[in-house]
Amino acid sequence: MASKGKITVRNVPIGGGAPLVIQSMCNTPTQDVSATVKQILALENAGCQVVRLAIPNLDAAQAIPAIKAQTHIPLVADIHFDYRLALAAVRGGIDKVRINPGNIGDPEKIRMVADACKASGVPIRVGVNSGSIDSDLREQYGVTPEALCRSALRNLEALDSCNFFDTCVSLKMSNVFSTIQAYRLFAKQSDRPIHLGVTEAGGERMGTLRSAAAFGALLTDGIGDTLRVSLTADPVKEVYAAKDILKALDLHTSGARIVSCPTCGRTQIDLIALAEQVEKRLENLQTKLTVAVMGCVVNGPGEAREADIGIAGGVHEGVIIKKGEILCKVPEQELLPRLVQEIEAMTGERL
Ligand code: SF4
Repeated sequence: MASKGKITVRNVPIGGGAPLVIQSMCNTPTQDVSATVKQILALENAGCQVVRLAIPNLDAAQAIPAIKAQTHIPLVADIHFDYRLALAAVRGGIDKVRINPGNIGDPEKIRMVADACKASGVPIRVGVNSGSIDSDLREQYGVTPEALCRSALRNLEALDSCNFFDTCVSLKMSNVFSTIQAYRLFAKQSDRPIHLGVTEAGGERMGTLRSAAAFGALLTDGIGDTLRVSLTADPVKEVYAAKDILKALDLHTSGARIVSCPTCGRTQIDLIALAEQVEKRLENLQTKLTVAVMGCVVNGPGEAREADIGIAGGVHEGVIIKKGEILCKVPEQELLPRLVQEIEAMTGERL
């Protein structure tokens, strides 16, 4: 799994076989330090491991030290066009810079950014997307995965020629199939760590589904070291969506994965509501656990055998099953509290 190349963003390794890293991006004005800190703390609480900040001006760059002092996860500066903002971000203690060297243009300016990053141990993400393909490549290949991949390789070479190799790459398109193709093409030609994303993915539901479709194909190919689910929504939802996608692929390293039956004519408890409540209560569980929520005692225990703990419903009551063994039988309204109590005892966490 994952790229051979590795970068380290402050204390978080990306690539080289390290676990997948979940990222998000603040949507507060970066210069509004208190709003940005508040949002980063909420993202941290949800499980975000690296967070990106837009740096559109010097005020934003100058806010970095204050933000860094009040938060805990590595910060990434998102820079477009102006190399001076990248330099200011590095001076301010940023942990990683995301640029598209093609947008900066002048090789001397790219060298200055590379030198500053190198001196501070700051890696660079080369972030290409369908809107920023080099114009000659766009003319030759159109807005295609081939053009995006060539653009990424060319931008990496620009940094390589500055003797700067501490890089990772993203190749985002808004079309899922094109995104998959672009990443596959790139992964055949480079071992740099790969940041997965689908750009302009959409709102919470469709954005999650489109990201899941792309990430599912790529991660099962072993492509991808870090990911962001871009959503037109509260960034905290991006983190939960990313965690859910990893759970769906069995690639999560922490948290509860809920397996629940679809319900049928045998179901005699309000299983749909119960499954939703279980999911909500376990949203912030840290321990990796599989929790089954099944509708009946006929098939439920068998189907839940693979789970660490679970519920199987009866007639207005149900059983708690732990590692395939029935632990106890309780009335329907006590199923959730009893399940939570057992999980707290198993994990030592307070839910
Ligand atoms: S576990 Fe029971 S209630 Fe749920 S779908 Fe299967 S048979 Fe139906």
